[in-house]
Amino acid sequence: MSRIAYVNGQYVRHSEAAVHVEDRGFQFADGVYEVCEVRHGMIVDLTRHLNRLDRSLSELRMAAPMGRAALTFVIREVLRRNRVSNGIFYLQVTRGAARRDHFFPAEGTPPTITITAKSTDPAVAAKKYANGIKVITLPENRWDRVDIKTVGLLPNVLAKQQAKEAGAQDAIFIDRSGIVMEGASSNVWIVTRDGELVTRPAEHGILKGITRTTLIDVAKKLGLTVVEREFGTEEMLAAREVFFTSATGICVPIVEIDNKPVANGHPGTVSSSIRDTFFDVAEKTAI
Ligand code: PLP
Repeated sequence: MSRIAYVNGQYVRHSEAAVHVEDRGFQFADGVYEVCEVRHGMIVDLTRHLNRLDRSLSELRMAAPMGRAALTFVIREVLRRNRVSNGIFYLQVTRGAARRDHFFPAEGTPPTITITAKSTDPAVAAKKYANGIKVITLPENRWDRVDIKTVGLLPNVLAKQQAKEAGAQDAIFIDRSGIVMEGASSNVWIVTRDGELVTRPAEHGILKGITRTTLIDVAKKLGLTVVEREFGTEEMLAAREVFFTSATGICVPIVEIDNKPVANGHPGTVSSSIRDTFFDVAEKTAI
């Protein structure tokens, strides 16, 4: 079965899917995106992801490519055509194709929209959950609008590559005063010695993860206390558990930071009980 992508109104073979050479996403990273998980034939937290897409578009004064109902139809169609029942879809919108110029293109230039989908192997995620991952910390070097989910991800790409070359799987950005910001593609949480779940406020400085928001609902259901406050590297290293949240990984335990073990160096029980409850609580939209 060949993969199918959606590009500006057409379903095309993935291998032939392309945008214009002067697309502003390609030339200026002038675009936004969303990644959403699909589990057992259900799209997870679609409404929250599409709400965030609307926010990203409006923060950048970018036109929406189509209305919510049409977009939902196309997303489902891409998932169906790719027979995804466990996997993700990736959606990207740019300010369109126009002769290269930093100024916004002429009013009415149609935005570019692409949607791709792929299946993922639940066994790969299960291995990550069982073993946990190793991370490195790096100085924050991103712009101050990381609350917008733009495709300008070069610092994130470099951070992940540096982690890989250091024998780790991911990286966490730390600001100048030692405060933990977020992972290169996820939000960071700690479980304190008192059993409190702590994550930094998401009003600025980080992307407000959809998984992070839903996890707050999950914690309520489990009777866990969530505290939104800043914490530093020292506190993170002394935590009982540290984990990442993201749509693709849900809740991934971190067992080593800069070559130092977190607690006993094994995944903890809080992150695993959160994972067990997550899909019951999250919004599910049938494909
Ligand atoms: N922070 C960054 C920088 C990300 O790239 C992502 C996801 O891609 C997240 C946090 C987690 O967001 P979500 O839970 O919506 O996937």
